[in-house]
Amino acid sequence: MSLSDLSREQLADLQSQQRAAYDELVGKGLKLDLTRGKPSPAQLDLSNALLALPGEETTTDAAGTDVRNYGGTQGLPEIREIFSPLLKVPVEQLVAGDNASLAIMHDTIVYALLKGTIDSERPWGGGPVKFLCPTPGYDRHFALCEQFGIEMIPVDLGPDGPDLEAVTRLVADDADIKGIWIVPTYANPTGAVYSEEVTRTLVTMPTAAPDFRMFWDNAYAVHHLTDEETPAIDVLALAAEAGYPNRVFVFASTSKITFAGSGVSFFGSSRANVDWYLKHLSKRTIGPDKVNHLRHARYLKSPDGVRELMRKHREIISPKFALVESILSERLGDLEAASWTHPHGGYFISLDVMEGTATRVVELAKQAGIVMTGAGSAFPYGRDPQDRNIRIAPTFPAPAEVSAAIDGLATCVLLAATEKLLA
Ligand code: PLP
Repeated sequence: MSLSDLSREQLADLQSQQRAAYDELVGKGLKLDLTRGKPSPAQLDLSNALLALPGEETTTDAAGTDVRNYGGTQGLPEIREIFSPLLKVPVEQLVAGDNASLAIMHDTIVYALLKGTIDSERPWGGGPVKFLCPTPGYDRHFALCEQFGIEMIPVDLGPDGPDLEAVTRLVADDADIKGIWIVPTYANPTGAVYSEEVTRTLVTMPTAAPDFRMFWDNAYAVHHLTDEETPAIDVLALAAEAGYPNRVFVFASTSKITFAGSGVSFFGSSRANVDWYLKHLSKRTIGPDKVNHLRHARYLKSPDGVRELMRKHREIISPKFALVESILSERLGDLEAASWTHPHGGYFISLDVMEGTATRVVELAKQAGIVMTGAGSAFPYGRDPQDRNIRIAPTFPAPAEVSAAIDGLATCVLLAATEKLLA
């Protein structure tokens, strides 16, 4: 029977059961953290061979470039060749950078604000700047906007992309809308996968701003959780076909392929945008960490090498996703006390609890030693208008900890729901 069908008496019974379970939970003195989507130590161990690469004897790449020295702003060709087919970005239009794609996103925004893009009449920072933010979304995208005073306009994100009616209407009308955040594959946190049809609309839609950009953050391009290994969409070709070759900035990294703290990041776009990016980048650095590029190229070897490694990641993390799924269905399914996503890849599950209770659930969990990402964090300005969304990041903790945390979380969801219904 669903929560909404329960009588007040039945609700009161359920509440006392959950209160007892919650008191027991608090008594356990747990210390569990499901906040950030980090790879677990076992996943990091998969790439320990990197620690001994490229080796003392190896100081040059295939072309004879000394990787220890300055230069090579676009990054080592070997590593770009491996990721080009995976990201569907031609090698010559792909830049390999340092350890964080977030830093490239930060820099492209700063360059656009201070210098303008190649299609801008003046720097973005000369007037108001707005970004469309499909929600729920990635909190650090929104934090970048906040940092630079970019106004965020939320649009609903469905399983295969954002509300296109809203997006096309907004961008057609308002020349201050300069960008949209997109995580096309296994979006953080819902697991949404943009369809080719949605993507086509996004790259062809007329925009009032001539310098509108899609920030296509393909952080989870190869992070499949099932046999269905959805390939990346060739968004740059679609944009070029549509007559807007400069519309898309592609970002990615090996943060969740090799080492989160010392991977390789990527930027891809039209040749003209890549030249624009490299021109500004060359003022910022005399070249990226090419030793890291080389050791990654030697370790990963080929696109198939990356695919193989990702299957090993999948073996470690998919049982944790399955645990979350089975505990949530067992504890909350029949009562219809919450709904959640069933991602086919990526790092997160997005949980929607009873409207108006997410903040309370996270607070109850915290008091019981289960730290969840703050309620509302997947929304611009941290404001979830319905106060119902909670992001679950199950990859880092050990399976037993994932179980304990999700079981405890389910207790908090039910307790908060009964509190609300009986208030
Ligand atoms: N983009 C998305 C969608 C993410 O979820 C994350 C990490 O959680 C990042 C980017 C961070 O990437 P990087 O480590 O390359 O900065």
